Amino acid sequence: MKALLRRPISLFVFSSIVSIWTLLIYNIPFFRYVTDNSNESTGGRIFLLASLMVIMLALNFMMTYLVMFCMRIVGRILLAILSIINATALYFIITYSVMIDATTIENVFNTRYSEASGFFSWSLWLFILAFGLLPALWCLAQPIVFGKVKKLALWCGSALAIVLVVALANFSQTLWISQHDTELGGLLQPWSYIVNTGRIISFSQDEQAEEIKLPDGKITDQEKAVVVLVIGESARKANFQLYGYQRDTNPLLSKQEGLKVYEATSCATYTTAGTKAILEPQNSDDLYELLPNYAFRTGVDVSWRTTNWGEPPIHIDEYLTDDELGVQFPDENEAYDAILIRGLRERIESSQKNKVLIVLHTSTSHGPKYADKYPKEFEVYKPVAKNVEEGEKNIDRLINAYDNTIRYTDFLLDNLVNMLRSMEDWHSAMIFISDHGESLGENKMFMHGLPMKLAPKEQYEIPFLVWTSKDFRDYKTEGELPAVLEQHYIFHSVLNLLSIESPAYNKDYDIFK
Ligand SMILES: [Zn+2]
Repeated sequence: MKALLRRPISLFVFSSIVSIWTLLIYNIPFFRYVTDNSNESTGGRIFLLASLMVIMLALNFMMTYLVMFCMRIVGRILLAILSIINATALYFIITYSVMIDATTIENVFNTRYSEASGFFSWSLWLFILAFGLLPALWCLAQPIVFGKVKKLALWCGSALAIVLVVALANFSQTLWISQHDTELGGLLQPWSYIVNTGRIISFSQDEQAEEIKLPDGKITDQEKAVVVLVIGESARKANFQLYGYQRDTNPLLSKQEGLKVYEATSCATYTTAGTKAILEPQNSDDLYELLPNYAFRTGVDVSWRTTNWGEPPIHIDEYLTDDELGVQFPDENEAYDAILIRGLRERIESSQKNKVLIVLHTSTSHGPKYADKYPKEFEVYKPVAKNVEEGEKNIDRLINAYDNTIRYTDFLLDNLVNMLRSMEDWHSAMIFISDHGESLGENKMFMHGLPMKLAPKEQYEIPFLVWTSKDFRDYKTEGELPAVLEQHYIFHSVLNLLSIESPAYNKDYDIFK
């Protein structure tokens, strides 16, 4: 090995090895996707695959050659870093069926270490060592004869010519490629994360922009009213007994009188977009004034309590994280979502205002370690998988763990409803809606975050539950609403409950009369 490393190789050989390795190892999912989704005959598919392989070989070769020739040691370091990221990305693509598109990168940047650490495992480290670190060391240590500029021009020129010729031969495939660009781009290493990281940086600059203010509203009565909006995390409709699931995952809520159960779908399959859709007045790529911000500006007492993250910017006086709640209630375990409802009754009853909005941003069903999200006494379905990786080999255990999180959610929501019902001086409402759903092994998919046009229904069919105190508001009847609701019903229904009269209110998106 040592002798081998000491023998210098030409930059041509070095670039060829990097290019072939990148193609064969890091891009297996890319070629699997092309094979599965091309609508060509077998012969056509082979031609398309071969063409794509040649193009990628030539492009990767050219980039490696250029980077190494121009930047030398910096080029080596870049290649080493890329091979480690490539290996990590490949591991996640294979293990969780994710695609490295803009939203995945955004989620990576928005994930806290405590949650990300849930993904770390021995198999991940081993995988990175074998397919990332070893190639990286080789890139750093291998002696190279760099050669003259003439050679650079010859090899890179030839590579470019090959790319052009093969691309022209596949001109008829342009339509297919443009129809599948998101997926293809999301699987292509290393371009997927390089390009998408750039896109995210430009998105986040846009997001720093001020939210678009809604026209002023006003509160039209003095009655005491409180709305508790509970944003669920990765809670999927399919595992709620209330929606017909075989298991008794809702033993308490199913006995709760007056609970409304709506069919609903989420607008996205990841937290930042799902949460935004719950809080904004209408579907938009722009950032409109959000429900808590708008209600606060209109004079409502608003409090946000969270064990989660990834929500759009909230501008209110009281924003409490799990850590801050943990300091207030040291006897409560802040690892579990019960911390969110601690002291809530006192908080509401001591309000100086007549209208109160409480938003609880929960994390109860967040993977990959479902079994860590509920106290031991809620481990009703056993045995459980410790995390998704273990659950992939034993789906039943994964579902056991997930179902326990739904049972814990049932307990929390039931508690809330009982608390509100006992506050007889107040009109009150509890609304529960999830940010998105979750895959639990259907078609070998796990977790969430696929682009909407590819996502299976498990990732966007969500629970939407509503309870209100007696004589608060009348519900619209079945015929007055679509069969399946979307998340934007929250904004308008909550304005109604808080008696906010506003040009931003749309009665078509209100579940109440
Ligand atoms: Zn989420």
